[in-house]
Amino acid sequence: MSVFDHNEFDNHEQVSFFSDPKTGLNAIIAVHNTNLGPSLGGCRMWPYQDSAEALNDVLRLSKGMTYKAAMAQLKLGGGKAVILGDPRKHKTDDMMKAMGRFVEQMGGRYITAEDSGIAVSDIRLMSENTEHVGGVDAKYRYDGGKADGNPAPSTAYGVFMGLKASVDYALKTDLKGLKVAVQGLGHVGYRLAKHLHAEGAELFVSDIYADNVERAVAELGATAVSPDGIFDVDADVYAPCAMGASVNQNTIERLKAKVIAGAANNQLANEHLGQVLRDKGILYAPDYVINAGGVIDIYHQRILSSAQALRSHIEGIADTLNEIYQRADESSMPTNLISNRIAEERFKQIS
Ligand code: NAD
Repeated sequence: MSVFDHNEFDNHEQVSFFSDPKTGLNAIIAVHNTNLGPSLGGCRMWPYQDSAEALNDVLRLSKGMTYKAAMAQLKLGGGKAVILGDPRKHKTDDMMKAMGRFVEQMGGRYITAEDSGIAVSDIRLMSENTEHVGGVDAKYRYDGGKADGNPAPSTAYGVFMGLKASVDYALKTDLKGLKVAVQGLGHVGYRLAKHLHAEGAELFVSDIYADNVERAVAELGATAVSPDGIFDVDADVYAPCAMGASVNQNTIERLKAKVIAGAANNQLANEHLGQVLRDKGILYAPDYVINAGGVIDIYHQRILSSAQALRSHIEGIADTLNEIYQRADESSMPTNLISNRIAEERFKQIS
């Protein structure tokens, strides 16, 4: 498995592999770019088929974080960590502490936080061995509620505000009675579904775990859909909130939604699909723009600002999206490429 000539290698500054046989930890940390500040990005635990799949994921995800921080105007770079394993089966406290040692070895160039499969309690265990963590012991929540450090509420709120702005831009309507297909009902997807339900949207939901779906049906009146069936729902909006690449060659022809706006990272299997979506008249909210609420939260906790400042920063995601949509329409370009261009202007200039 090679790194330097890997398809997803984008002059990443550092890629580190870590193995701890005692705890069974096998992990990779990738630092994409630190021009704007130390790299920050969540740690994902996922049952990757092999290390090649994990490397692919961490290279893509860390790059996305550089673009995300730049678009959210944060003094942070892009990095990400992945742990190979099933969080429901393989995760142990000792493994999380070992992960903390790995993060510590990065010497502050990488700051970790929650991502799929990693909870606040895991970050707390990592923090026993490193101070380079975010998403724990937060001082406040964006809505004034009790904070536990989990960035997911802020991510979900940002996606919700961004989704509303996207619907307004593309469909000139609000969410009442709008059909939204939500893929993935985890930390972010479920909270997003709650926001959408509160605004009167009709929900169609899928998850690979039946208990997550059953909860949404019982609590939010959602319609359950199979993991594969979510792509065929006759919805106005598709909100991917699970893993990456759910918009791909196979699914793009099946999607009926006019707006794609969700929390997942790397939603498009490749950048070219942005043009395909534009040609099909589907408005795509660039993933790293709409899902930046969590990293914005962690940033504000680090600089000790306030709940109000955090909330208005998250709400700014809607303005950023509107700017992207206008520039995309003016130049007849796909939204993902317009967004990449703006981000690159910001983080490449510094170098
Ligand atoms: P999570 O693990 O809590 O939730 C993901 C959910 O998706 C799980 O319930 C899982 O069972 C489900 N899922 C997985 N594959 C699926 C499939 N094929 N079909 C349907 N459901 C499937 O993770 P999360 O923290 O909610 O993050 C969700 C996505 O948002 C991830 O891509 C993550 O990288 C991204 N994201 C999360 C945050 C955050 O603050 N947590 C911030 C930015 C981006």
